[in-house]
Parts: sequence; structure tokens; C-alpha cells
Amino acid sequence: MTAKRPRPIRSGKGRVDLDEAIYAEISRAILHGQLQAGTKLPEHKLAELFDVSRERIRKVLHRLAAERRLEVIPNRGTFVPRPSGDDVRVIYQAHRVFEAGIIELLVRTMDDSIMARLDAHLAAERDAARRGDRAESVRLSGAFHLLLVDALGNSELSRFSRELLSRSSVMVSVYEPAQSSVCAVDEHGALVDALRQRDLTKALALSREHYDHIEQRLKLDQAVPRHQDFAAVFRPVAASERRSRNR
Ligand SMILES: [Zn+2]
Repeated sequence: MTAKRPRPIRSGKGRVDLDEAIYAEISRAILHGQLQAGTKLPEHKLAELFDVSRERIRKVLHRLAAERRLEVIPNRGTFVPRPSGDDVRVIYQAHRVFEAGIIELLVRTMDDSIMARLDAHLAAERDAARRGDRAESVRLSGAFHLLLVDALGNSELSRFSRELLSRSSVMVSVYEPAQSSVCAVDEHGALVDALRQRDLTKALALSREHYDHIEQRLKLDQAVPRHQDFAAVFRPVAASERRSRNR
């Protein structure tokens, strides 16, 4: 992170809703680990920074809180989550148990079209890693696990997996050092190979170890920051987005 003010966000579409632009910018900062766990997000500061009303900021913060990416503490404000060791343990246990069930079903229902989708996804993950495109790697590594679930065609399981992933993504963003928030591509590859061989025992072990590794990389001993330079974190919304502000 540099002290220099980053360039404005550009959507490329010209006219994009200002709320969406601010929402996307705060989401990006959370997911890229640029906001430390426990940081307070003061409405007045963000309103000043994005040059919008406090009401608009409040609306965006509430949306992020509803998605459990932020925490609202009554009478105190909105904060970047600071999940406890127990929170982390519970979520990763849920991940392991949930994916074990997914894998058990997948091994039985696996077909060529699912295999082809997984192989294409792995190729994209490897490509992003080669290019050093961290943002894309982070997105694809989450998408890999969703792809396993979505292959079953059960909308309830798909919905649940997204909720679980959004909880753990926040944990990875705030507790994984040096923004290295990427699943190991090789571990995904080994899991896909085990599925291809319909080797249930191996696939279950690989999935369990994969989540163990992610959980072990989290560093929970981060101190609450005294000061966070929001101007260095958030990019101002560009003029093109701003046109929709009075809608
Ligand atoms: Zn993974």
C-alpha cells in the first residue's frame, strides 16, 4: 500500500449507479485485505471521501452488513469484522463437513461435462497464477468451490455454499498476511484428479486437508489498528459514476 492517492474507479460503461460504485469499492478494499480487522468505518469520513451524503454511505454499509462483510454494533458504528478464533474454527469446520457431503454426491454423479468444466476452471486458475493476477486468482479460487457445488444442481446447496464462502472470504481477507488469499491451485488439481478417478476416500482427505491449510494460514493475532488512512485505501468514484448521483 502506498501513501499516494490511487486513481479513480472507472467502470468503462460510462454511467453506473453511484451507490454500486461505492459498494464495489468498499467490497474490493475488504476482500483485498486493505482494511484491517476491527477497523471502524465512520460514515462522516467516508461521506467526505466519496463526496456523497452520509445517508448514501449508511445505505451501502448496511448492505455490506446484511451480507455479513461488515458488522454493525448498535450505538458504536460499523466495523470491519474481527472474527474470533471460535468463529474461524466453526466456519472452517462447516466448510469441511459441507464439502465432504458435496464430494460424496459428486463422485457418484460425476460426468464428462462436469469434468470438462472443472478442467477449464483449473486452466484459468493456473493462467491467473502464472500472470501473477492476484485479484483474478482470489476470485477463481472461491469460484472453484462453488463450481463443485453448482455441479449438483441443488439451488439450496448452492445458496448455502455462497453464504459460507462469503463468511470465510472475510476471514481470509482480514487475517491472511500479505494478501496471499489464494487457494493452492495444485491442491485444487489433486482434488479434481481424485474426482476423475472416483476415489472417494482420497477426494475427502484432500478436501479436508485443503481447508486445514487455509485455516492454518490465518493469523488471528492482528491488533486493532489505531488509525487507518482511508484516503490511501479507497479510490474516489469517477465523474462518470457521479452523473447518476442525483437520480
Ligand atoms: Zn480452494
